[in-house]
Amino acid sequence: MNEIRCSRCGRMVEETDNFCRHCGYSLKPGRGFLNSHTGIILLMLIVGPFALPLVWTSKRMGLVAKIIYTIIMLAMGYYLVMACLQIYQLTFGMMQGMMGGL
Ligand SMILES: [Zn+2]
Repeated sequence: MNEIRCSRCGRMVEETDNFCRHCGYSLKPGRGFLNSHTGIILLMLIVGPFALPLVWTSKRMGLVAKIIYTIIMLAMGYYLVMACLQIYQLTFGMMQGMMGGL
């Protein structure tokens, strides 16, 4: 049986426990995989800035990590918007070109 230390009261609890038996502190942080760094990074690649709320609800991450993720996501969001605008302008220009050719 593995024992870990409760991060609130510092007493030993079993690794499989969901809550500390001494102080009732939740030992299962966040919502599992999606709150881990791997989960957040994967989610960022899929949904981009929409993963932001998950970063801030995560109990596994420190404030510094949260701020870093926020900056990365804001940058990603900015480039996403710029890329969409360029695609739109390109398509629009092409369509105009085709119309003019007729
Ligand atoms: Zn405790």
